[in-house]
Amino acid sequence: KNFTDIPLSKKTLDGLKYAKYETPTDIQREAIGLAIQGNDILGAAKTGSGKTLAFLIPVLEHLYQLKWSQLDGLGALIISPTRELAYQIFEVLRKIGRFHDFSAGLVIGGKKLQEESERIHRTNIVICTPGRLLQHMDETACFTADSLKILVLDEADRILDLGFAQTMNAIIENLPSERQTLLFSATQTRSVKDLARLSLKNPMYVSV
Ligand code: AMP
Repeated sequence: KNFTDIPLSKKTLDGLKYAKYETPTDIQREAIGLAIQGNDILGAAKTGSGKTLAFLIPVLEHLYQLKWSQLDGLGALIISPTRELAYQIFEVLRKIGRFHDFSAGLVIGGKKLQEESERIHRTNIVICTPGRLLQHMDETACFTADSLKILVLDEADRILDLGFAQTMNAIIENLPSERQTLLFSATQTRSVKDLARLSLKNPMYVSV
């Protein structure tokens, strides 16, 4: 079974082909299949399991299915525990997303807040770290996530281990509740379950 057996847009399939991904793992197929039907996902996934594609493909498909009129500005937020991981996700997205017309960007600090915030509104897919995202929500008066359609929480257990539980709660309170959410975590601790309860609606459980 190949990626071509999953009902994906030609643009996504072309991107996967360009990046030389041919065969999804069972779990990728399962997570992608459930996510493109619109389900929230709770994924138990370790680093190295292929979880990046398991959420990036549904992000591209979700945004692609919207009419352009509905995708004016920020459509997807991907929250990652560290800058390094955010950068890796960005690199994979650049490859598999290259035939789509979405803009993508990193919001991980290292730039002036104002400079970054001016870009966020014009960026369809933002990959960020929790602290920096909350800083935008708190300090840049013009920050809005009103147009957000899909949220990804990657390595949720690591996000929480780094002390971002309160930050995540504050972020989620600031996001529109009508959205799809995909949460991936290597371990299912109590705090991960709390975050899952707060952020997911009737999630499908997938073990990656
Ligand atoms: P990840 O867990 O997303 O960091 O992926 C771990 C490694 O597996 C990365 O080097 C990916 O490029 C690779 N990978 C993920 N999915 C596939 C796939 N379907 N076919 C081949 N390689 C893959």
